[in-house]
Amino acid sequence: MGAYWSGEEALGKGGRNSAGEAMFSLAGKVALVTGGSRGLGRGIALALARAGADVAVASRNRAALEEVAGEIRELGRRSVAVVADVSRVDGAKRMVKETTSALGKLDIVVNAAGVNQRCPSLEVTEELWDFILDTNLKGTFFVCQAAAAVMREEGGGSIINIASLLSGVGIPTLAPYAASKAGVVGLTRVLAAEWGPLGIRVNCIAPGYFRTDMTKGLFSDPDWYARLKRQVPLGREGYPEDLAGAAVFLASDASRYVTGQVIYVDGGFIASREK
Ligand code: NAP
Repeated sequence: MGAYWSGEEALGKGGRNSAGEAMFSLAGKVALVTGGSRGLGRGIALALARAGADVAVASRNRAALEEVAGEIRELGRRSVAVVADVSRVDGAKRMVKETTSALGKLDIVVNAAGVNQRCPSLEVTEELWDFILDTNLKGTFFVCQAAAAVMREEGGGSIINIASLLSGVGIPTLAPYAASKAGVVGLTRVLAAEWGPLGIRVNCIAPGYFRTDMTKGLFSDPDWYARLKRQVPLGREGYPEDLAGAAVFLASDASRYVTGQVIYVDGGFIASREK
């Protein structure tokens, strides 16, 4: 086969036949997961560790973070708990700085820290707007910025932002949250375009309805839950483990030619919405 087809010129000799398990391996990589203390962030942190990465977990709650860091160490990986508030720019930057100080470098970032509060749009206050946007959108951007400064020096990396169904559909009482998550998709596309030449890939996972602290109120309503199961083609809600595959894929070389994308992990919810 000639060099034109094989991709050898661009990818090197190893690039062509590297499909299979090795492509999904994160051995030797260092990851930072914001919101790693519980819920989806914790699930993703453990999935990355199982795939071979050392993982820093960051949030505001030291006790919960230390517990997750302990679980990661039990898997035979290194881990560190970083206590910081992502809604403050200095907190976002410190998450990256303390990860690299403790674990030596940074290859993967997952921005899973997030908040939500339902409120009719006519009653949304400036405080509620700032609370949600500062955590979900400003925090995500400044973690990306601090991480990319490190990754640029290291020759590349993978950033995974957590979007939502609300990036793609309008659901009443969720205006600030939807604005933040549509913003996350917008900034992901811009950063993918801007940082691709630096070898930094930036993608989104958009989860559907998952059982976590954030959605406890919804899942405690039996009518809502019955309706949800009818609306999801795969017939059930998501669990943090359901994000493992997409997260490891986007973090690893298996997705080396994928950037600027949104992967909905939602049991088919978005695809089946009437347009
Ligand atoms: P969760 O269980 O409520 O966890 C939220 C995480 O964010 C916690 O680790 C929390 O840590 C952290 N966090 C919140 N504010 C923070 C701040 N200011 N600084 C640092 N960390 C902060 O929620 P989840 O369901 O796992 O949600 C994780 C992400 O997925 C969010 O972005 C959410 O919008 C998104 N999402 C969730 C669903 C779902 O169905 N659950 C669906 C779509 C998207 P501490 O409290 O320890 O600081």
